[in-house]
Amino acid sequence: MTSPLQSLTVVVPVFNEAKGLSAFHARLGAVLDKLNMDCRVLYVDDGSRDESWRVITGLQQSDERVLGLRFSRNFGKELAMTAGLDAAEGDAVVMIDADLQDPPELIQSFVAHWREGYDVVYGRRIERRGESWLKRLTALVFYRVMRGMSDTPIPADTGDFRLLSRRAVDALGRLRERQRFMKGLFAWVGFRQLALDYARDPRHAGRSSFNYWRLWNFAIEGFTSFSTLPLRLATYVGVVTALLAFVGGAWVVIKTLLWGDPVAGYPSLMVVVLMLGGIQLMALGIAGEYLGRLYMEVKGRPLYLIQERCGVSTGGPDATARAGAVDSVNERATS
Ligand code: UDP
Ligand code: MG
Repeated sequence: MTSPLQSLTVVVPVFNEAKGLSAFHARLGAVLDKLNMDCRVLYVDDGSRDESWRVITGLQQSDERVLGLRFSRNFGKELAMTAGLDAAEGDAVVMIDADLQDPPELIQSFVAHWREGYDVVYGRRIERRGESWLKRLTALVFYRVMRGMSDTPIPADTGDFRLLSRRAVDALGRLRERQRFMKGLFAWVGFRQLALDYARDPRHAGRSSFNYWRLWNFAIEGFTSFSTLPLRLATYVGVVTALLAFVGGAWVVIKTLLWGDPVAGYPSLMVVVLMLGGIQLMALGIAGEYLGRLYMEVKGRPLYLIQERCGVSTGGPDATARAGAVDSVNERATS
């Protein structure tokens, strides 16, 4: 604690949150007031189709701690958080949802533990109020499967609500992959990590933008970006089927030699052909999942585009961009 005042940036991804944003900011602001730190709140408008951006600029007028970035379209929460991390200048950075499902009051404990020397302090949900049993069940299965598959241990029941130290943020900034499974990336950087338990509240206003189809795709993203096990699985299934086919083939030959061959066996033939066809297509599909991601990665497009900003200094990743110009962040990685 050499500097007079440590600084904190709170990154908030925002997508169609106009209804609840003012209430959120009021509650967050009250917490920040008590912190005795140089605080900033960075709202990243992820291409909202409602009044969210207007609300953010409005907040900026009345509270000089507010900063805003606006994407040119909806890029998804993972990229909104990435943009926030890229632009955040604080000694510590907190990430929190705008819907008040994560209690801002917890930030005080985050900061306390960060001062003790932890680099990553994350919230672990011990209770999910106001979420259906199906969502809870799928989340449970997802985290368990993920842990079994991945080479990087990803903590269960952990969302994106967390504090990161400067060096953790800088480390994350170096991961420029397109497939951004943030939970995994957070775990990947390592450093001293600590979990704090909390109860997750129901949404304050509006509704969740993650339906089951989106969650399913999110899960696939998680599996493929942190594990190549599915590819190996395809190999194993292939090997086992080949072995079975070999044994089965030998049996057919022996049988024919012993008892002759009256033409029969059409149903069993069909079963084998269809089953093998299915397995082959599945293996091809799995390989395709990885190939497709490789393709997207290889194109090297910028991760996101910023359309507008308010209060954000020109420093940071987009320093080269002129005001008003559509700019990207990938430049930073190469320069
Ligand atoms: N969000 C976002 N981009 C999206 C979807 C969501 O920035 O495409 C933000 C949203 O505004 C909120 C956070 O991500 O601050 C969590 O979203 P949501 O509450 O819909 O997800 P859930 O809590 O149901 O997982
Ligand atoms: Mg939510």
